[in-house]
Amino acid sequence: MDEKELQFLREITDLKGTSGGEGAVRDYFREKYTGLADKVETDGLGSLMATLGTEGPRILAVGHMDEVGFMVRAITEDGFVKFSRCGFFFITGVMSQHFTIQTEKGEVDALCAIGPEGTRDEKFPDMDSLVMDIGCTSKEEAKELGVQVGDFIVPKGNFTQLGKNKNYLVNKAWDNRIGCAVSYRVMEEIKKSGHPNVFIGGGSVQEEVGTRGAKTLGYLSQAEIGFSIDVGIADDMPAGRKEGIALGKGPELCFMDSCTISNRKLLRFAVEVAEECGIPYQTSIMKHGGTDAGEFQWSRSGMPVLLINVPSRYAHTPTSMICYEDYINTVQLLTEMVRRLDRAKVDEILRF
Ligand code: ZN
Repeated sequence: MDEKELQFLREITDLKGTSGGEGAVRDYFREKYTGLADKVETDGLGSLMATLGTEGPRILAVGHMDEVGFMVRAITEDGFVKFSRCGFFFITGVMSQHFTIQTEKGEVDALCAIGPEGTRDEKFPDMDSLVMDIGCTSKEEAKELGVQVGDFIVPKGNFTQLGKNKNYLVNKAWDNRIGCAVSYRVMEEIKKSGHPNVFIGGGSVQEEVGTRGAKTLGYLSQAEIGFSIDVGIADDMPAGRKEGIALGKGPELCFMDSCTISNRKLLRFAVEVAEECGIPYQTSIMKHGGTDAGEFQWSRSGMPVLLINVPSRYAHTPTSMICYEDYINTVQLLTEMVRRLDRAKVDEILRF
C-alpha cells in the first residue's frame, strides 16, 4: 500500500460533511482539482464539477461528497441535545459513539447518551428519543458553547487499519468519500495517458437525503454517459446473507438499485474491459436504497448510466470498512473504460 494514498484516504474520510454541510469536502477537492482540471465550477446546490478536455463525448463519473449525520433539533433544559437525522444513520451505529457538533463558535465534542444502566438489547429506543451528552447542565451552558438549533452533527473520525496486511480500512464516511477519491484519481490517470473525451469529475451534494445534488449536477454536466461511484453493501460477515458480495473481490458492477437499472451495454463494456485488463470485479443488485445514478439517468433527454460500487461493510455507521485493493481496482477499471470511451463507442452505447 502506498503511504501517501493512505494519508489521502484518511484525510478525506476525516473531513466533516453531512448532507447540506459539505463545505469542507468541497473546498478540499476544489483545491485538488485546481491545476489538474481545465475548469472547476460549482452549481446552485453546491455540487462540484471538474472538467478535463474540450473535445469528444462528455463522460460524467462522480461520487457524492456528503455523509450521513444529524442536525440539532432542540436543547433540553438540562443541557442535552436532541437531534434529527440527515440521511439514514443506523441506530446501531449511534449509541455510545463520539460526535462533533459544528457550531458557529467552533466544534463541540459530544457523545450519544444511553440510559443509566446501559440500554438492553431488546429495548432499542426510537432515534428521535436519543440525545447527545455535551457535558452541560443547562440550556444556557449549551448555548454558551455555541450549540444552536440547526447545527450539523458528524461522527468523529477513527481511521484504523485492520488485518494482517492492514488493508482493511475503517473510518466514518467511506460512503462516499471513496467515490470522490475514485473520480479524482481517474482524472489524474487519464490526464497522464490521454483520453478521447471530455471527462467530468467532482462530487455531488445531498445524496443521503434523496440524491438531490445529482439532479442539478447531471443537468449541468451535459454528459452523454454517467457513472455513479458509490459504496456497495458487502454481505460477507457472519450476520450477512452471503449472496456473494465480498470485500477484496473487486469493484461491484451494479445491475440495479431501487431507482436505477444500469445500461446493459455499458455494464457489458465494463465486464469486457475488466477481463481484458485482468481487473477483478463482482456483479450485484443493491437490494435497498438508490444512488445518484437514479438522477443522472433522466437528466435532459436521458443518459445511459452505470453504478460502480466499492464494496463496504457497515456503511451508515461511524465504523464503515473498505478494502484498499478494491479502491485501487475501481480506479483502474474506470480509468481503462474512460480511455476507451471515444465517439464511436459512446454512439454504439447510445444506439437503442
Ligand atoms: Zn452513498
